[in-house]
Amino acid sequence: MNSDRYTGALVDRGGGHLHPLNLVLGQAAAVESLGGRIFEYSPVTGLEHGEPVVVRTEKGRVRAERVVMAGNAYLKGVLPEIEWQAQVDAPWAAPRSFTTSPSSRLDAARARALIPNGLAVEDCNYLLDYYRLTRDNRLLYGGGVNYGGSDPADITAVIRPKMLKTFPELADVKVDYAWSGTFLMTLNRLPQFGVVNGNVYYAQGYSGHGVTCTHLAGKLIAEVMHGQGERFDAFAGLPQLPFPGGRLLRVPLSAIGAWYYQTRDRLGI
Ligand SMILES: Cc1cc2nc3c(=O)[nH]c(=O)nc-3n(C[C@H](O)[C@H](O)[C@H](O)COP(=O)(O)OP(=O)(O)OC[C@H]3O[C@@H](n4cnc5c(N)ncnc54)[C@H](O)[C@@H]3O)c2cc1C
Repeated sequence: MNSDRYTGALVDRGGGHLHPLNLVLGQAAAVESLGGRIFEYSPVTGLEHGEPVVVRTEKGRVRAERVVMAGNAYLKGVLPEIEWQAQVDAPWAAPRSFTTSPSSRLDAARARALIPNGLAVEDCNYLLDYYRLTRDNRLLYGGGVNYGGSDPADITAVIRPKMLKTFPELADVKVDYAWSGTFLMTLNRLPQFGVVNGNVYYAQGYSGHGVTCTHLAGKLIAEVMHGQGERFDAFAGLPQLPFPGGRLLRVPLSAIGAWYYQTRDRLGI
């Protein structure tokens, strides 16, 4: 990499990077090609347990033999068993990312000069920076995870100084898009898999590394539904620990913990 910020690095050839929206679109097309139906903008408002399970939405009800809950940090008030008993009352974390503009001065040669091998990069801080080049020569840069707080009004203003610390030569480059989102953290950072009432399966809490693990989760849930529960059960057997402090204190306590580790990052400890 073309940055003076680091003294060394570890290359993981088993890793990779991809365009997550294209992945989702491809999977949606695959589901539909197999006869599956997708209903957008119809959030589930409640579940009635039983055989079948009744899934309620604002305007309708679906009766289902089995249900998979994969709402992660966005699932609120639908299945208290996993939002509380399974200790999903973990704080959420909101990372942020932005991409530089292809129309500004980051042409192909300049982009490739930053990360010549095209690998995705992350540092080893607790509140880490991570970045990669996109196919159209944008630099997609993320950082500044916020544990339990609210989003800043200007995400770019938070991330841009981090990018410039890594690549000071990008001071003239514009930013086109900035965004944030929420993921679910667990205390031990292990995902939570399980089943409620025998027919409501769930998988959640990938603690920031869900792009690959969600696909494993889908596969294992399919396996358990077909009577092969060994691999699903291995995950479901992992301890699901509550965040200390209960609903009231879990967020402030996590924020204090994150602040402590962030301070260590800054001091280089
Ligand atoms: C900015 C950012 C950067 C990230 N970077 C990476 C990365 O580089 N690598 C990585 O591996 N992970 C990354 N993550 C984490 C990753 O996005 C998550 O781990 C992953 O998306 C979790 O997948 P999921 O399917 O469990 O949940 P989500 O992707 O959160 O999907 C949950 C879905 O459930 C829906 N939903 C919730 N409640 C309801 C309801 N009541 N009714 C109907 N639908 C509902 C939501 O609308 C949403 O579509 C990042 C996250 C963010 C926000």
